[in-house]
Amino acid sequence: MPRALITGITGQDGLYLSELLLSKGYEVYGLIRGQNNPKLELVRHTVPGVHLVTGDLTDMSSLLRALNVAQPDEVYNLGAISFVAYSWDNAHVTSDVTGQGVLNILEAIRLYAGDDLGKVRFYQASSSEMFGKVQEVPQRESTLLWPRSPYGVAKVFGHYMTINYRESYGMHASSGILFNHESPRRGPEFVTRKVTQAVARIKLGLQDDITMGNLDAKRDWGFAGDYVEAMWRMLQQDEADDYVVATGETHSIRELLDVAFNRIGIDEWQSYVKQDPRFMRPAEVELLIGDPAKAQEKLGWKPKVGFEELVTMMVDNDLVEQRALAGI
Ligand code: GDP
Repeated sequence: MPRALITGITGQDGLYLSELLLSKGYEVYGLIRGQNNPKLELVRHTVPGVHLVTGDLTDMSSLLRALNVAQPDEVYNLGAISFVAYSWDNAHVTSDVTGQGVLNILEAIRLYAGDDLGKVRFYQASSSEMFGKVQEVPQRESTLLWPRSPYGVAKVFGHYMTINYRESYGMHASSGILFNHESPRRGPEFVTRKVTQAVARIKLGLQDDITMGNLDAKRDWGFAGDYVEAMWRMLQQDEADDYVVATGETHSIRELLDVAFNRIGIDEWQSYVKQDPRFMRPAEVELLIGDPAKAQEKLGWKPKVGFEELVTMMVDNDLVEQRALAGI
């Protein structure tokens, strides 16, 4: 039975990846941070088959201990402070966790595996935010990185450190450059979920409007459940490598609003949407669109859920959830 250790087990991707690996017969371990982590119950409830180990990406001895407990064949590093807007006000902690944390886990694997480094395969959750002020359209594996936030800079560090461990030590370390991926499990601070939650609440009469930032930014949004499949496929290859994982389509925040409001029968959403500079960013990533050709060709991976289906799925889920929360 293959064994996997996942950092970031409490996040959207940690949960989907756990479900995927459990369905494939893996013994799955999840690293969980902090005392009384409020997401502990969510993980226990959603993926009861996962064994939890306490630890923190900023604490290398806890990582070594977790590796000794899990004895993994595969390590998926999904743990990060992942909200871009937060990273300007918390640049140091973002660098420590999202950037240095990658080095910590790579070093911990090297110490744990000793002479037998080939026994552990490593996946690093890299991000399309690394492309930032994009130097090429669409973005591919070879596109020059130009991050636009402390989060993006930290992810670039982790990406190159992963490549460096592959090249220096021959580690089977792959970096998945995942474009934005969403689901009903997405945190409500991200724009898709913020919109679908608000739209559901407007429909139910629980809220009058929504306050947003820049409506012109464009993103390549896919479904997180599809994207964890690409992570797993990367670690099944003979050779480790880097892959862009994206849909190859881009949509603006306005189009997101179009689809979400349309689902509740509103075509003209302008009167429901306010804008506030509070939600604007010091530097914006204006346009992301990925070229997933390499992932398609080498991994045989293709996204299954399209943009409209994704947004509709999220609105429908939020209608059920908000109704239950409000007791109506
Ligand atoms: P990101 O691509 O990782 O930063 O994912 P987000 O979902 O946080 O943001 C996607 C885009 O939506 C960015 O260009 C934001 O500037 C834009 N956006 C516009 N209004 C909002 C908002 O109210 N909240 C968030 N999170 N993003 C917003």
